[in-house]
Amino acid sequence: MHATLDTLLSHGPVVTDGAWGTQLQSRGLPVGACPDAWNLHHAEAVEAVARAYVEAGSQIILTNTFGANRFILARHDLADRIVEINRAGVEISRRAAGARAKVFASMGPSGLMLMTGEVSEDDLKAGFSEQAGTMAAAGADGIVVETMTDPAEARLAVAAAKETGLPVVACMTFDSGAKLDRTMMGTTPEQASEQLLDAGADVIGSNCGQGVAGFVEICRRLHAACGRAVWVKANAGLPEMRDGKTHYAQTAEQFAAYVPQLVAAGSGFIGGCCGTSPEFIRAVCARLLE
Ligand SMILES: [Zn+2]
Repeated sequence: MHATLDTLLSHGPVVTDGAWGTQLQSRGLPVGACPDAWNLHHAEAVEAVARAYVEAGSQIILTNTFGANRFILARHDLADRIVEINRAGVEISRRAAGARAKVFASMGPSGLMLMTGEVSEDDLKAGFSEQAGTMAAAGADGIVVETMTDPAEARLAVAAAKETGLPVVACMTFDSGAKLDRTMMGTTPEQASEQLLDAGADVIGSNCGQGVAGFVEICRRLHAACGRAVWVKANAGLPEMRDGKTHYAQTAEQFAAYVPQLVAAGSGFIGGCCGTSPEFIRAVCARLLE
């Protein structure tokens, strides 16, 4: 594993951050708008989210760059701002983190399907290399490839991230199949582990898709397969629609109650995904101190 990660883990499980998208929405980001563009036009709001996680106890915070690849930005007519958006995303998190937290830059999927030929492997790799290189140059401490469902795409993103020399975390989303233990493409935790490690990931894990209860078994299987500390970022339960808005009903306390089980299952990096907030991170920190 990368030395940065070993140092972090030497003091026990590492607390990461919670959701960004739902936090930005609560600060006025319209549904369907490009969250990554807020790095340019609403930097104070993005920094407020980052700062709230650092103050809640996050030892690693991510960046508001999940969709800042050339494929997604093109849909918002922002492909020509890719360097600025990624650079600003890292700089905002750096300002919020100071010396108190590490900044791991977020890389999400392209939104395009390799299997149907919507995008080629070469183009996908070039797009991920562009984003990873920009974020590394801006001062990221690591890169998190997340919410991946296609192992072929995940491998290309991990390979691009590895080129920077930074530690790389790679996460897939398991929310399909009768037991919710497969990605949308049918990949199991064991298959994901093999693919992601082979592509060069230092840490593997899972984020998004389902609530924390379902992550215990997924974490156990990932840990059994990889033999390393697993990265876990679960949602705040399953989303419900209320008044046309997505709502997550789980409380921070209910979420954090699973922390001992996650640690026992091999999790070394614990945070939250959609619907979680700084309050969840505070509750996770409190559980780890018990
Ligand atoms: Zn999520």
